[in-house]
Amino acid sequence: MANQVHCLYCGAKFDEDLPACPDCAAPSHFQQKGFRFGGRRRFLLWFAAFAIATLLVAVWLPR
Ligand SMILES: [Zn+2]
Repeated sequence: MANQVHCLYCGAKFDEDLPACPDCAAPSHFQQKGFRFGGRRRFLLWFAAFAIATLLVAVWLPR
């Protein structure tokens, strides 16, 4: 059974597999597999690495 998702525009509940909201016809943003979690986690990882690198450079840079 597919998951139920809430429409980002009108809040209606509909099937995750649907390409668009049946209530307001807005395109569904739950179609791409792994987009919600994988993409954000990878972004956070890169952001953390960038923050640490910036911190190290700030500490080690001659004043
Ligand atoms: Zn909708």
